[in-house]
Amino acid sequence: MIAHDTLDPFEELVTKGWVRPPESQRPAFPPSGRTLRPNSLAALVEIVRRANHAGFPFFFVGGGTRLSNHPLPVAPQLHGQPTIAIALDGLNRVLEFRPMDFTVTVEAGIPLAQLREQLAMRGQTLMLDSPHAQQGTIGGLLASGYAGPRRRSLGYTRDALLGAQLVLADGSLVESGGRVQRQASGYNLGRVMVGAHGCLGAYATLHLRTVPLPETHRCIVATLPEGTRSRVLASIEALPVEPTAALLIDGFMREIPGWEGPDGRVFLAFEGSETSIARATRDLRTALGAIGVSETRLFDRDAEALLEGVINAPVPLHHNHGDNTATIRLWGPPSKAVALRNTVHRQLGEVNLKAETITDLHNGDVYARVKAFGPRALDIAAREIFVELAHEATRASLLGAPASFHDRFTIAVNRERSSESLVPTLRSHFDPRSLYAIDRSLL
Ligand SMILES: Cc1cc2nc3c(=O)[nH]c(=O)nc-3n(C[C@H](O)[C@H](O)[C@H](O)COP(=O)(O)OP(=O)(O)OC[C@H]3O[C@@H](n4cnc5c(N)ncnc54)[C@H](O)[C@@H]3O)c2cc1C
Repeated sequence: MIAHDTLDPFEELVTKGWVRPPESQRPAFPPSGRTLRPNSLAALVEIVRRANHAGFPFFFVGGGTRLSNHPLPVAPQLHGQPTIAIALDGLNRVLEFRPMDFTVTVEAGIPLAQLREQLAMRGQTLMLDSPHAQQGTIGGLLASGYAGPRRRSLGYTRDALLGAQLVLADGSLVESGGRVQRQASGYNLGRVMVGAHGCLGAYATLHLRTVPLPETHRCIVATLPEGTRSRVLASIEALPVEPTAALLIDGFMREIPGWEGPDGRVFLAFEGSETSIARATRDLRTALGAIGVSETRLFDRDAEALLEGVINAPVPLHHNHGDNTATIRLWGPPSKAVALRNTVHRQLGEVNLKAETITDLHNGDVYARVKAFGPRALDIAAREIFVELAHEATRASLLGAPASFHDRFTIAVNRERSSESLVPTLRSHFDPRSLYAIDRSLL
């Protein structure tokens, strides 16, 4: 049983002005508890230290884009206890940008779009994809371990992280990794924490690698006539200039432009010099033309916004979980992505549900969204199929679904795989009293 102080351990911090009120447009976390918004690293350290001392369960919130799209996954042993949400969106400054060294140091609550804008003024950017970039923070991105469609060419999110200042569950402040590229080798706790959903501690300050902005961006959407899909996919794989993202799209007509063909659409993103992109376009059109694909649309000026729209399409912000839609992310080897996509369509088709899918040809992700006439119809028809599909993939997570989906899914799908087995061990070391309130196995 966790002991609570009867006095408010945070009152002094509020009086001193170290804690700001949460921004009103953000969802109020948590339902039974309070939100504290530190305005400095010292305030963050002090809040965590006091919460730990008083035995209050707590968790961290970045932009809230993941947490507002999900029933709050509170660890079962903490149910009913007042919980402290520590909102990090007040820690949002660029602390040091060294364009000559290609490094930047930021507070972890900075939204991705804001950081990108500042880097772009000096012709640089980050080598990572970022969902809901206007609101999602770099700390939240690392903590959720999101990996986007450009990771084959840009690298994984963790590769952008050189070092960090971390606040552990007892309030201690530790440094990990380095600040410059050559110090970044060796043991790096900040990298171990990628995907841990903050249950090993908070990212407070981050040292990140930057890269030059590409000269040009182009997106190409091609409509696939009947019987062309496998030949088109083979010809994309053989292109001399590799796209930075290659996706097969079925549905998502409202979110992604281009005509839907009988065999779907392919979406390709290219980045680089004007010459290389002109050559890639020529090669692609020649290859597709030979297969009988005549409908290709090019997007240049709005290419970056379009790619962002494609990244966000499976999980719109403030999705209503009470409705009749469920979205799952499945991932496995890239060579099996199309087979996994086919299984999704076949299994849902057998119960008369039409799936919309986005299949990442480079990385093996399959996002599947299904709608039914009502929540009950969705529950009866799709819930068991989602569980079966999750077992066919290497990993799976629910990205939006009615609450009833989550319980069954979590019980049925064991997602603690070997690469992550370090997290529970480290967690028992860093947070021995289990005060971190979010159960990451429920995410
Ligand atoms: C297509 C698509 C696919 C996605 N796939 C996944 C997925 O597979 N898994 C997933 O979790 N999310 C996924 N997301 C959600 C996405 O990763 C998050 O929305 C976003 O990157 C999180 O940023 P945020 O600042 O809004 O974090 P929040 O929603 O505020 O928090 C996300 C998680 O990170 C923790 N956290 C936030 N900030 C910090 C910090 N500074 N230090 C330590 N912990 C922190 C929170 O406690 C929470 O567990 C997906 C989104 C899209 C659009």
